[in-house]
Amino acid sequence: MTKRTVHIVGGGIAGLLAAIELARAGVTVVVHEAAGEFGGRARTREVEGFLFNRGPHALYCQGAFKRELDRFGIAYSGGRSLSGSSKAIFDGQLHELPTSLGSILRTSLFGLREKLAYIRVFRAIMGGATGASSFADWLDEQRLPPRVRAVVEAVGRLSSYANGAEEISARALLEQIRLTTGGTMYVDGGWISLVHGLADAARAAGAELRVKSRVSQVVRSDEGLHLLLHGGESITVDVVILAVAPHEAAALAPEVDSLAKAAEQVRAVRASTLDLALRRFPSQAHDFVLGIDTAHYLSVHSGSARLAPVGGALVHIAKYLPVGETPSDVVAELEAVADLAMPGWRELEVSRQTLRGMPVSNGLPRWDRPRPGVSVADAPGLFLAGDWVGEEGMIADAAAASAIKAARAVRLWLSPFPPKHRHARAQPAAACEP
Ligand SMILES: Cc1cc2nc3c(=O)[nH]c(=O)nc-3n(C[C@H](O)[C@H](O)[C@H](O)COP(=O)(O)OP(=O)(O)OC[C@H]3O[C@@H](n4cnc5c(N)ncnc54)[C@H](O)[C@@H]3O)c2cc1C
Repeated sequence: MTKRTVHIVGGGIAGLLAAIELARAGVTVVVHEAAGEFGGRARTREVEGFLFNRGPHALYCQGAFKRELDRFGIAYSGGRSLSGSSKAIFDGQLHELPTSLGSILRTSLFGLREKLAYIRVFRAIMGGATGASSFADWLDEQRLPPRVRAVVEAVGRLSSYANGAEEISARALLEQIRLTTGGTMYVDGGWISLVHGLADAARAAGAELRVKSRVSQVVRSDEGLHLLLHGGESITVDVVILAVAPHEAAALAPEVDSLAKAAEQVRAVRASTLDLALRRFPSQAHDFVLGIDTAHYLSVHSGSARLAPVGGALVHIAKYLPVGETPSDVVAELEAVADLAMPGWRELEVSRQTLRGMPVSNGLPRWDRPRPGVSVADAPGLFLAGDWVGEEGMIADAAAASAIKAARAVRLWLSPFPPKHRHARAQPAAACEP
């Protein structure tokens, strides 16, 4: 029986960040990860020297995840996600993607009236535009020419992975677009290098990290909370942080009504991907392509980060799935995007990874319902963290922000026993500059 120990269920980014925050404050922490390794969706698989993240992963330079990595002094490197040749797909044809004043003026995607409308709406977004309802409503209010509206929607999908303008909050998405224009970076060695940095930092701070430790239930009694482990062990604890998906949280604690309700109300953001390892990048190919009248994305992540052997290329192609749609097989569709952007790629393929309907985020920020907070009101001692929790950010930034918030709420909850402070050793932050 363990007392005054915080147990964290889930060893993804959220669970590990919460563990570091608590362990460095002197709290005893145990992390339970069901899989054989930490990282969850932030894991990376190596095949013949190519490093496959679980689909395209970019670190937002001004987001909460990078902020917390840097605050904890976790070392990593990578390159700003810059492309040599950015294209838009419209009506099956490639056009210059309007990303700067020069490319707006040059692109064959717009006529003059559309170019002016695009400059106007982008100025409004960058100037801090916000909205009280859905992104679709906000777009209606702008009265944009249809093609301009389609490009702004595509930029929204690129920034958030979310293909659901009617459901997503305009405020959250407009903020996310501004965050994205602040730059993103691809990480050398894949996101698993971030996971290893987090796990090392958690251990160094004194946290106990367990793999193959599946929690099968969290039960409440007058004594506190009881964690039932898959092997049959039962541990009585004061505090549990559930850093798992909403349906998993609800299944772990079935008698907690608010968790069942949250699992029912959240909407997952999903993508299907075709991740390609190529012997070399085909000549005359484009290294960044964004669908305008289709929800497609292609980017060569090895152009900015060490993700492939010398001379090789690691390319991510994705489809942003409409929110709520059942994932179907889209591999042929994604191959067709590759044909358009990178003719000749088929002869150069070394390996591939296909992912169908992966949850990029477990919680789209809806305009009509806030995401659940970190404290579970109807289950004292139970806290939540993950990319479906809290108000701040999206995807891994939401996971990071909610993890730190949950850890701080836990410290407050335990505050009759004031925690000791341990200080982080400062490390220089990885630059996001090109
Ligand atoms: C295709 C794709 C592209 C993405 N691109 C980006 C991007 O560009 N930028 C970005 O910021 N984010 C991106 N993300 C999102 C990012 O990967 C996630 O937001 C983040 O990894 C979520 O971390 P988490 O810890 O909240 O959840 P998870 O990674 O899902 O971790 C939960 C962990 O809990 C464990 N677990 C579950 N049940 C139990 C149990 N009963 N007992 C013990 N352990 C349990 C699981 O095994 C898992 O390891 C992308 C995701 C995908 C899928």
